[in-house]
Amino acid sequence: MQKTTLWAGICVLSSLLAIPLQAAEVNLYSARKEALIKPLLDRFTQTTGIKVNLVTGKADALLKRLQSEGRNSPADVLLTTDAGRLYRAKQAGVLQTATSEILQQAIPAQYRDSEGFWYGLSLRARVIMYHKDKVKPEQLSTYEALGDATWKKAVCVRSSSNIYNQSLTASMIEANGKAETETWAKALVGNLARKPAGGDRDQIKAVAAGQCKVAIANTYYLGMMLGGDDAAQKAAAEKLAVFWPNQQGRGVHVNVSGAGVTAASKNKPEAIQLIEYLVSDAAQSWYADKNYEYPVKAGAQANAIVSAWGDFKADTLHMDKLGENNPAAVRLMDRAGWR
Ligand code: FE
Repeated sequence: MQKTTLWAGICVLSSLLAIPLQAAEVNLYSARKEALIKPLLDRFTQTTGIKVNLVTGKADALLKRLQSEGRNSPADVLLTTDAGRLYRAKQAGVLQTATSEILQQAIPAQYRDSEGFWYGLSLRARVIMYHKDKVKPEQLSTYEALGDATWKKAVCVRSSSNIYNQSLTASMIEANGKAETETWAKALVGNLARKPAGGDRDQIKAVAAGQCKVAIANTYYLGMMLGGDDAAQKAAAEKLAVFWPNQQGRGVHVNVSGAGVTAASKNKPEAIQLIEYLVSDAAQSWYADKNYEYPVKAGAQANAIVSAWGDFKADTLHMDKLGENNPAAVRLMDRAGWR
């Protein structure tokens, strides 16, 4: 009897001791900055006991790294922005399919890969922003109309080398066809107030400074400028308002940030668990609040600054189309002289 008790005690003790030795881990390659993701990862670890090793870097560099590491890559999950990039990662063979009831229920079908190679985690809206003193919202309607003669030397937009513009153009190819989209791109280039330079934030600043009247930009940049600590940026952002384009038609062009399990993953169950955690209600609200994007899951809260812009109708186009139409978009933007 005593022997049995002692033996049971040893078993319990050794199983307790074994936990730290066999602790589950997941290795995450993230194109999102540490501040946007680390607190979520810490909470994931607290909840599940799964340790997360985080590697951050630029999206394209992380994709190259995954390709060169191949089967030996330590990565289990790739987290990046833009469906066009997630599509490229899938095409490059660095992701694998992952099925999850939780992910399928939480994420609308158009915001995840149809085969489960990646899942959208947040939504970003690419909109028209205008100078409140120089433009009345009634003057605006669609992305297409920014090619009209009324906007001569009035538009600011970043370079076509940027994936956000490539994805917007890809969505327009789907809606209007290649020929019409190329005509539009040429007209838009003809209406630019200046040669494309800088990122979306720089287009917002250029509108505020009076260099242009309208800009095409992602809403979270305006949110970050309004919600951040930089007084000059806040003052600039306050001169602009958000216009939701194409509300009578297909809706605002939206994109995602998302994650997929890597082809080389040695911790697939933990990798899926991590992605599932990122679509939990608490994680969705925290993530959307910090990055000024929209939660991908219905019912989760956006940041108060973002919510104040009101609701909008979003294009329901499947994100896969943004990737599929990317090469055609890049070619036509180039022919249109959008550099
Ligand atoms: Fe961005």
